[in-house]
Formats: sequence, structure tokens, C-alpha cells
Amino acid sequence: MSNTNGHSANGGNPVEDVIIIGSGPAGFTAGLYAARANLSPLLITGNDYGGQVSITYDIENYPGFPVSLSGPELVEKFKEQAEKFGTRVEFDYVSEIVVDRHPFVVRTSGGAEYLTRSIIVSTGARPRYLEIPGEKDFTGKGVSYCATCDGFFFRGKDVVVVGGGDSAAEEALFLTRYASRVRILHRRDKLRASKILQDRVFANDRIELVWNTIPVEVLGEGGSVTGVKTRDTVTGAENLLKTDGVFVFIGHLPNNDLFPGKLEMDEDGHLITDRQMRTNVPGIFAAGEIQDKIFKQVATSVGQGCAAAMATTRFLEDLHAGHAVKWNVDPREFAAPRAAVAAW
Ligand code: NAP
Repeated sequence: MSNTNGHSANGGNPVEDVIIIGSGPAGFTAGLYAARANLSPLLITGNDYGGQVSITYDIENYPGFPVSLSGPELVEKFKEQAEKFGTRVEFDYVSEIVVDRHPFVVRTSGGAEYLTRSIIVSTGARPRYLEIPGEKDFTGKGVSYCATCDGFFFRGKDVVVVGGGDSAAEEALFLTRYASRVRILHRRDKLRASKILQDRVFANDRIELVWNTIPVEVLGEGGSVTGVKTRDTVTGAENLLKTDGVFVFIGHLPNNDLFPGKLEMDEDGHLITDRQMRTNVPGIFAAGEIQDKIFKQVATSVGQGCAAAMATTRFLEDLHAGHAVKWNVDPREFAAPRAAVAAW
């Protein structure tokens, strides 16, 4: 197929077998398995190459690496292994998919247009914003969503971390390498983070917990953050905390801009898949945080990417054999993710 850049994306073949959208752990694993099934997958990276793992300083819980490694190192290993078996990696951003015809159409902001028999969606998630006054104005000027990227600029300074999950705990610990004081503002009086991270947080004398507290405004002067206005979630009392930086880790939102009206999503915007990673459109599969609102680990995303590629391989075998493709997603199974989440 020729894309509008004029080069052949698939050795002159007019239709791709599978296009993988996204370059996080799910995407590269799908690439590895699809390549080993001889599908010559095309993986389109998106703008955030490597996804969220690429902005993680230390990965301690991915099996096989007892000596922790950095997120970017792990992403490079994923890419190298996927490419070794024939995954083609394009650094481009998918801007549109057309799913009401088959083969599907995938268009990119780089001007390419592809036809493909199947798609594996692994677009991941992005940080959730506080959506309070001052946050946008001071993003990049003291407000940050990535300690690994920006921690260095806060050497000897005071910072606050917002959130109570694994990310907030992990990133607060990381920030103690640079900042002289790290205060975690959490809206409850109990962290959500895993026990091991909580223990490390409580044992670190540079970290203070500020319970039952949310920021309601980011304050600044001359283009830098000078403090946050906070509210006590129990008493409602407002307070002013002087600080140089605000690091926000309050969860993530699925990267689903391509899918409204095309693929079925739950109330939080995650793609709904069945246990074979199938979406509601035959030939389109999804893996990783775009469809997982429960586990969100590198290890689970890798497993989902593997499953999606195996299911895609079966789908394409049926298609190439001329069998009518059965896409009898059991409505009970399809509904299961919602029910499971509700019961969680
Ligand atoms: P998370 O687990 O969803 O935690 C988000 C935190 O932000 C919660 O403590 C939540 O408070 C708080 N929050 C949400 N909205 C807020 C708001 N508007 N204002 C103030 N606080 C708000 O998100 P995460 O920490 O990014 O973790 C996401 C997933 O990745 C989890 O499954 C986690 O286990 C995983 N993860 C794992 C590791 C690791 O294993 N090392 C590291 C990072 C992330 P409540 O507690 O009151 O809900």
C-alpha cells in the first residue's frame, strides 16, 4: 500500500493484515506476537512513544528483571524484540480510523493512509488533571505530571504531590532525590498505594502527609508557582501552602479520542472488550489501559497485548480461509467487564 508520503508501507501489498495503534507495553507485545505469527504488523507509535512506562523512572515489578530498570530501557527492549521478528514501527500519530467498511482505513497526522484487515488498539491513557484555577497557567512552570521528567528542576526546593495511589507514592519518593521537602496532599486519611510503597513513604523523613486535603487553586507570580490554596475535605477550612512545585498524580483517562461513535465504550471512556480482547466491531481488538480500568500494570498490559494478537491471528486465519467470520460476542461476556467493575 502506498501512503501519501509515497512509500510502500507493506512491501507493495495493498492491504495490511494488522495495524497496531500505540507503542506502550500492550502495543509492542501485540507487535511481537503478531510478527511471530508472520503477519508483518505495522505499529504506529502515537505522539507519546512508549506510553506512560516511558516516563517511569524505575520499574521494580516487571517479572524477569529482578534488578530494576528504567521505563525507557524497558520500552527499548520491547521495541527491539518486536522488530527482531518483523514488526514495522512508524513514528506517526493516528488521526482517524474508518470502521464502517472493511478493510478499515487508518489515517495519520503525517499524511499516510492505510487499509487494514484488522486493528489492535493500544492507545493507553494520559494523566488526569485537577481542573482547578491556575493549573493550566502554570503547567510547565511548576505544575507537572511527571516527576521523572521535571524533578531535577526542583533541587533543594519545596514541592507538593497530589494523590494517594501508587503513582503519587512512587513519584513522591523519587522527588526526595531532589526536593528538600515533599508534602503529599491526599483527599482522604488513608493512602490507596500498595503496602510496600506506603511503608517507604512513611519511613522517608523528607515526606510529610497532609491528610483530608485537596488543592483548589494553584498560585504563582512572575511565571512560577508560589503556592497552593487548599481545602480540608472534612472541615471545609481553606489554607495556603507555600511551595515551588505541584506534582499531580490523581489517576488517568483513556486515550479514546478516535473512537466515539465507532467503538463501544463504558461510562468512563474505556473501550469495552470481551475476554478475547474483541471490541464490538469484528476485526478490531483492544489491549492495555484503553480497555483496562482495573489492573493497569505493565505485566497485565503485556498479557492483554499478547491475547489481542493471538485473537487477531485467529480472526485473520478465518478471513484468509474464506470462512464467514464469527464475531458472536456473547452479550453476557461482553457485559462482564462492567459487571466485574461494578462489583470490584
Ligand atoms: P489511582 O490508583 O487511581 O490513584 C489516584 C489517586 O488520586 C487516589 O488516591 C485518589 O484518591 C486521588 N484522586 C483522584 N481524583 C482526585 C481529585 N480530583 N483530587 C484529588 N485526588 C484525587 O491512580 P495511580 O496512582 O496513577 O495508579 C493507576 C494504576 O497504576 C493503579 O492500578 C496502580 O496500582 C498502577 N501503578 C502501579 C505502580 C507500581 O506498581 N509500582 C506505580 C504506579 C501506578 P482516593 O484514594 O480517595 O480515590
